[in-house]
Amino acid sequence: MENQRTEKIILTGDRPTGRLHVGHYIGSLQRRVELQNSGEYQKIFIMVADAQALTDNIENPEKVRQNIIEVALDYISCGLDPEKSTLLIQSQIPELCELTFYYMDLVTVARLQRNPTVKSEIQMRNFESSIPVGFFTYPISQAADITAFKATTVPVGDDQLPMIEQTREIVHKFNTVYAPVLVEPAALLQEREACRRLPGIDGKAKMSKSLGNCIYLADTADEVRTKIMSMFTDPLHLQVSDPGHLEGNTVFTYLDAFCREEHFGRYLPDYANLDELKAHYQRGGLGDVKVKKFLNQIMQELLEPIRTRRKEMEKDIPALYDILRKGSEEAREVAAQTLAEVKSAMRINYFEDAELIRAQKEKYGA
Ligand code: ATP
Ligand code: MG
Repeated sequence: MENQRTEKIILTGDRPTGRLHVGHYIGSLQRRVELQNSGEYQKIFIMVADAQALTDNIENPEKVRQNIIEVALDYISCGLDPEKSTLLIQSQIPELCELTFYYMDLVTVARLQRNPTVKSEIQMRNFESSIPVGFFTYPISQAADITAFKATTVPVGDDQLPMIEQTREIVHKFNTVYAPVLVEPAALLQEREACRRLPGIDGKAKMSKSLGNCIYLADTADEVRTKIMSMFTDPLHLQVSDPGHLEGNTVFTYLDAFCREEHFGRYLPDYANLDELKAHYQRGGLGDVKVKKFLNQIMQELLEPIRTRRKEMEKDIPALYDILRKGSEEAREVAAQTLAEVKSAMRINYFEDAELIRAQKEKYGA
């Protein structure tokens, strides 16, 4: 118990519904790598959430299967290190299903219906009256993922906050009804707001694999350039001399997320910082193309080393499956330990309960 309170443990992950994109990088991946290298966490579990991805991809399970390795390649090329972090595949940990099953009794349908992320995702996927039960209940399975590893910290984008809240409620309920074996996790958000939910290149509220509005970490330099040059800006900014607007202007939102002061010295020395660039845009006289070219230089600088590492990793795919297998085995041991504690707290560990057997025996006077 003492250990539980002092250990700092991270659990986080991604759905293998496509390659990872720069929204993942800025919203979560970059932070994970920093946390991994900080040495402050005793354990870091990074999960490829294939079972969760199946909940809304049942027409196309092969997509999920194929993308597991893509996500793993993205992880390692961003700097996640299997020596320091445990990389695992969700479906390989059956204990998670068992935990989910028991947690289901602690949550009402009405509470799930109120979950804002589930609500908006149902809308986005046009599920309406045909919501798969598994999809509807995925916040519960996410609570199982987080608690199985006794995670204290979950670095995520802000669309995941309602999930963490739901997990905390489940933990609280379980610990109250049974015994305090589960740990309440806290979400860890990026400080800069633009990083918490990066919009798509089309200006839509969220860059998302399912919406096809992404700059992928694995995109070639040309693909990245083409996407940036086609990005949504300010529809009222028709001529260079027109005053421009920043609100809803995706290129500037990306600069808020990715630009640092040193980039000006390197690529745009006429301006000292982003505030100066924004002021010029708002005054008029600064063209979209110039701003996009600047953003492209920043993104290329970020993505080039990631791309290079990916190319290296792509040469030995079996080694990557091996990393995932080992990580899943290690994770399974931890989840099994938690499940044993959960079952003991619920007193459904009948065969290890000598007292129960003795009392029942006595009842029958034998
Ligand atoms: P899908 O469309 O399949 O749901 P996704 O692009 O939303 O895919 P997920 O695997 O659901 O990606 O999300 C993984 C993590 O990345 C989560 O922590 C999520 O909050 C974060 N994330 C996803 N998209 C963004 C974004 N556009 N900006 C910041 N963080 C993001
Ligand atoms: Mg998502």
